[in-house]
Amino acid sequence: MRYQPVIGLEIHAELLTDSKVFCTCKNEFGGNENTRVCPRCSGLPGTLPLINKGAVRLAAKAGFATDCTINNYSAFDRKNYFYPDLPKAYQITQFEYPICTDGHITVIGGKDIRINRIHIEEDAGKLVHDDYEGISMADYNRCGVPLIEIVTEPDFRTIEEVQDFVEQIALRLKYAGVCDARMEQGSMRVDVNISIMPAGSSEFGTRAEIKNLNSLKAIGRAIEYEIKRQSEILDNGGTVVQETRRYNDNHGDTKALRSKEEAHDYRYFPEPDIPPVLLSDEDIAEIKNSMPEMPQTRFNRYTQEYKLPYDDAKLIISSKEFSDFYDEAVKINPDYKQISNLMLVELNRNLNDSEKTISDVTFSPADLAELVKMSSDGIVSKNAAKDILKIMFTNGGKPQDIAKEHGFIMDNDTSGIEEIINKVLSENPESVESFKNGNQKIFGFLMGQVIRLAGNGANPKLAKDLLTEKLK
Ligand SMILES: [Zn+2]
Repeated sequence: MRYQPVIGLEIHAELLTDSKVFCTCKNEFGGNENTRVCPRCSGLPGTLPLINKGAVRLAAKAGFATDCTINNYSAFDRKNYFYPDLPKAYQITQFEYPICTDGHITVIGGKDIRINRIHIEEDAGKLVHDDYEGISMADYNRCGVPLIEIVTEPDFRTIEEVQDFVEQIALRLKYAGVCDARMEQGSMRVDVNISIMPAGSSEFGTRAEIKNLNSLKAIGRAIEYEIKRQSEILDNGGTVVQETRRYNDNHGDTKALRSKEEAHDYRYFPEPDIPPVLLSDEDIAEIKNSMPEMPQTRFNRYTQEYKLPYDDAKLIISSKEFSDFYDEAVKINPDYKQISNLMLVELNRNLNDSEKTISDVTFSPADLAELVKMSSDGIVSKNAAKDILKIMFTNGGKPQDIAKEHGFIMDNDTSGIEEIINKVLSENPESVESFKNGNQKIFGFLMGQVIRLAGNGANPKLAKDLLTEKLK
């Protein structure tokens, strides 16, 4: 590689509050245009913003989820710019005093990515362009939706590090209940700042910013394209211009949008209508105590304490609900591996086949724990456990009842199965003769006859041992 890319991220995440950040309009996705607006969020003169405490709390939680310091004092500023999706002509944000600072996340390869800050701000509206009519329309539903912006240092050097970081942020925000991180719906959006420098150099080049990437794949392709574009400019003796660019997913390329503004272009000044946000040490401790266990902690517990394979642990933590279900089940029956297997293979198969998610499951983690115990205690066979799970999934019911009702309880009484074996052997003298003359395949046939007569409840291992004994 002749050039070394240097990458930093700005991630916008919409907070899961009930209402908007400075008014009481509902904070929701979708619906008809301009149905969730009021004088405050549409910027009418004379209205006053009122800070949503829930948004402050969630921003602090995002800080805890990323090992930031939560500041006792933070304050809002006005960022002035004119654009039709911003009716006030300024955005309320935190410039000088953000709520969280100095965090970090460890990414693939064990490298620490530093987080400079997390600040609270309001989202802008949305312009809808109708190319056919040649008009643009403004939808202000998104105006005033609470956002956090997570700003990293330019610590990334590869696409894999960036993608791992974004994946981890999305998962942590979901676990903490801060943001649903639905990138395809825009509730989490990533801006990539990227420059290149000659390999071995330590002096950063001029960076371009690519706005609003909404999938891991788009992030990867946009970075790849930018590295190629900037390399060609430098190879031809040109200079990279500092600018904001838009990524086009259909073409896989980026186009210049506008020359990059500097902070002073925005004429930031302290927001006079909102008092500073003051959090006491007690407030901060209380928010910290309300944090759920983070995915990385769970991953470590699963792999180190429970000895699950890395891939299995990663799959379980990839959904908080799935992981919660697993945790509840192993609390009752600490058969970590078997419960993980049954959930990852059989339960997931049932979920996929029915296009449902774990939150649709009607049986309890305790039922699943019980089922695994029945299987390991030899009350039902492994195969029967799969059938019972399917019935629990489709019709509900307790594993014990289903096993009894469908005859899945294994008969561990040797006399019953011995009787059946004797019957099968006496009815098939030619097969027995053939087996004794060396035809090993006949064993499977005889076994099949035994199981057929014994039904669901037969213990296959017991039957096999007895039949082997009898044929000696
Ligand atoms: Zn409003």
